[in-house]
Amino acid sequence: MIAVRPLHRRSATLLLTIFSLLVVPSAFAAGKPGRGAPIDPATNCTQWPTEKTVIALDPGHGGDDSGTGYSYPDGTRVLEKDVVLNIAKLVRDTLVGHGYAVCLTRIDDKTLGNSERGEFANTVGARLFVMIHLNGSTDPAVNHTITFWGKKSKDLAFSRYMLTKLKDLTTQEGDYVGQFANGALLTATMESTLTESAFLTNQDEAPLLKEVDSERRHVIARAIANGIHSYLNP
Ligand SMILES: [Zn+2]
Repeated sequence: MIAVRPLHRRSATLLLTIFSLLVVPSAFAAGKPGRGAPIDPATNCTQWPTEKTVIALDPGHGGDDSGTGYSYPDGTRVLEKDVVLNIAKLVRDTLVGHGYAVCLTRIDDKTLGNSERGEFANTVGARLFVMIHLNGSTDPAVNHTITFWGKKSKDLAFSRYMLTKLKDLTTQEGDYVGQFANGALLTATMESTLTESAFLTNQDEAPLLKEVDSERRHVIARAIANGIHSYLNP
């Protein structure tokens, strides 16, 4: 899901930023107040440095941003940020088997900014950048597939291609390729796409996605990995 963050959080961030500027000008002079250390390729890539073709994967959300979620009858709540991290690691494993070096923007439950995600893809010299999300809706019947492009000239063809490879994951009408002026898509300089393979909130989908390493998570991961690999090897 790619919903805009709530206004109150933005306001709080703005106030904090103003406070930082007033009280700790030295932190501002050092640049990028409030940001953590840059994402480290040594920990987040399967191989680094590398001569292999690099694929950058971005598991959506993380840390204080959970994305969408689903509450099961037994009281368990499964969050998008956790499911997409699991799926991204499965995509990584398949791509490594195809001979790629794979870099993840996060390998645990970390809070990341959007531009930070795109900057990391640039840092590692990724050939392709794929953001991995699951969609959410208040209507539990909805389930279809979407891919998003940021900059038309670099992302549209790849986003269209990935939709053709992912659309059969869901059976409902409504699949489409859309534009989303997302900071990560706009920052990354290589061909990029944001994938919403299915709706985590769908009543039939959710049970299949509940467990770590479930067959459904593997199926989605294989579709993404095979889409990436076949795009580069037509
Ligand atoms: Zn999302």
